[in-house]
Amino acid sequence: MAVKTWSTPVSVLEASRLVPCALCGGETFLPRFASGAFRQNRVTGRALPRAEAGRDGFSYVRCVRCGLVQINPQPIPADVAARYGTRYGKDYLAYELENESAFLRLQELALRDAGFFDLEKAGGPGSALDIGCATGALLSLLKNRGWTVRGVEISRPQAEYCRSRGLAVSGVPLEENRFPPECFDAVSASHLIEHLNDPGAFVREIHRLLKKGGRFYVTTPNISGFQARLFGNAWRSAIFDHLYLFSRKTLSSLLESAGLYPERCVTWGGIAAGIAPKPIKALLDKNAKRFGFGDVMIIRAVKA
Ligand SMILES: [Zn+2]
Repeated sequence: MAVKTWSTPVSVLEASRLVPCALCGGETFLPRFASGAFRQNRVTGRALPRAEAGRDGFSYVRCVRCGLVQINPQPIPADVAARYGTRYGKDYLAYELENESAFLRLQELALRDAGFFDLEKAGGPGSALDIGCATGALLSLLKNRGWTVRGVEISRPQAEYCRSRGLAVSGVPLEENRFPPECFDAVSASHLIEHLNDPGAFVREIHRLLKKGGRFYVTTPNISGFQARLFGNAWRSAIFDHLYLFSRKTLSSLLESAGLYPERCVTWGGIAAGIAPKPIKALLDKNAKRFGFGDVMIIRAVKA
């Protein structure tokens, strides 16, 4: 099953600014994903010097203090929100609908690996929040299993689609919802945290919303994985829309800084379909999960 990552061209109309490290506040960075071939500045057409050459005119840097990788300079929050809220529009909904069953299957497998469905045996289905819930496929699945579900989706066409299928989905960013404190047993965010300007504020809000002993399930590309190492700046997750690229270590540190303690981490995906012969892909996929070098990871963290 091959799923193409949603990726858009760089917009030179967005405003960008230099930001400190989102994890440790550091202001010293080294280039990351900039050591490949010389790249052209998309505006002037001139070749960029090696140290500045990002993919398609943007650059990932690595914090020298904590190792977090982020796009810097970074597009400002209002422009990032406008991408998902309105600019990507119905194309984004069409992309999500086209891949809905594939995405749901991957999400379900990841949650199973992370022990999500064990919660049903322990205390029965509780209350769950899915942030960046797209077409609401996961929410529907959980609702059918007896969960009380809420969703957050800032893409307007997608939020409307969710409501048309009878789901309670808000269309504003998480922090603006003012959910009461300690109201969810489980919160999930799949392929979302890497898109946010301030992932620190995001995890602090999740900590506030979770009941004591509640769990957060976060899925994101794994920069420590085999494919990131193999492909460097051509890695499929090193794209304009991903403001941060986490490793198990940097994501765990971010969660811990908000009082969410990682209990389990599972990675998957040894190599993308079509790159290696099938038997080699099967071998890599199997061992990626076993040894933790997979292309995508899920971390389950608990509020103590
Ligand atoms: Zn840092």
